[in-house]
Amino acid sequence: MLRDAVRSLAEAKIAPHAAAVDEEARFPREALDALTANDLHAVHVPEEYGGAGADALATVIVIEEVARVCASSSLIPAVNKLGSLPVILSGSEALKKKYMAPLAKGEAMFSYCLSEPDAGSDAAGMKTRAVRDGDFWVLNGVKRWITNAGESEFYTVMAVTDPEKRSKGISAFVVEKSDPGVSFGAPEKKLGIKGSPTREVYLDNVRIPADRMIGEEGTGFATAMKTLDHTRITIAAQALGIAQGALDYAKGYVKERKQFGKPIADFQGVQFMLADMAMKIEAARQLTYAAAAKSERNDSDLTFQGAAAKCFASDVAMEVTTDAVQLLGGYGYTRDYPVERMMRDAKITQIYEGTNQVQRIVMARNLP
Ligand SMILES: Cc1cc2nc3c(=O)[nH]c(=O)nc-3n(C[C@H](O)[C@H](O)[C@H](O)COP(=O)(O)OP(=O)(O)OC[C@H]3O[C@@H](n4cnc5c(N)ncnc54)[C@H](O)[C@@H]3O)c2cc1C
Repeated sequence: MLRDAVRSLAEAKIAPHAAAVDEEARFPREALDALTANDLHAVHVPEEYGGAGADALATVIVIEEVARVCASSSLIPAVNKLGSLPVILSGSEALKKKYMAPLAKGEAMFSYCLSEPDAGSDAAGMKTRAVRDGDFWVLNGVKRWITNAGESEFYTVMAVTDPEKRSKGISAFVVEKSDPGVSFGAPEKKLGIKGSPTREVYLDNVRIPADRMIGEEGTGFATAMKTLDHTRITIAAQALGIAQGALDYAKGYVKERKQFGKPIADFQGVQFMLADMAMKIEAARQLTYAAAAKSERNDSDLTFQGAAAKCFASDVAMEVTTDAVQLLGGYGYTRDYPVERMMRDAKITQIYEGTNQVQRIVMARNLP
């Protein structure tokens, strides 16, 4: 029922704008409005904080169905979870009450600020500093590649509170867009997910009350990594949705397109490609849903499963979207058809929330 409801909404209210959002590289406002009106913009927020209380699998299905028509728009529910999960996992009761209610109501979005210009895969090498000043912390630094920066009201920011201790000297904070000293860089000009703004976040003597720290001092990096264990599954879902959208489009096209006097779907060479695409998608779906169940139960092998789901599903999305372009021939290579957008959008799923090389490092360190 949830899938049917989200699919209908996505096809009616999000799909019609997907090409323009990409072409104009603009924020998918129509998608945000439609998702918010149907309480699908941040489904993961627990009911006790005013949210829809969707479990990890339901959240995955929402993201998958939105990504099937518009990958940029699927980053609204996905990044709302990424940005706010540190607070849900490690924040005080007061922080949860304060920040989850506006998120659940659709009054505010949440972004996640881990990466920096010189600290990507080696996130613990970050330089952003937080220095204690009485009942306040003062933050200085640059966060890079922040999804939905400028659109979000709230930001989970990881910053160094003790430079001697590397990852154990990093703490997490909630920073608000309206805090004096917060500003944003120009939107990055990207290959894909062009509707999702990616900008730098500048922190210039941002003075915030001490109770905005998420969890204990020095636990920010652990919280950031624990968050990714759960949210990599949402990127797997995004990849899955993009791949399914490409397969669905190609499936329809090959029945219509005629060469050598018959639909190209009649050629076994084309059929074998479609079979492989569907097989890979189904394998990615099973792995992703199993990982979502593990996320919900907080199983001990979640770190491996989350990395495996993200890595596998994103590699599948890249292969399947590339094959979809192939099945449309020259037409697939043009912006008159959606599959080239899907191929460009798929690429990012192999890069963010840790590149797929990093996922393989994570898996190797946590072999089942
Ligand atoms: C569109 C977009 C949105 C993003 N959104 C966010 C966000 O909202 N919040 C956030 O905090 N970050 C975000 N990111 C950042 C993203 O997570 C990083 O780009 C990613 O982790 C890689 O870091 P990097 O770009 O610095 O690449 P690098 O770390 O410089 O890596 C370059 C290459 O080296 C490889 N490499 C590095 N180390 C190793 C190793 N030990 N072994 C093998 N290979 C290695 C990488 O896999 C990669 O192929 C986003 C990025 C993009 C492009």
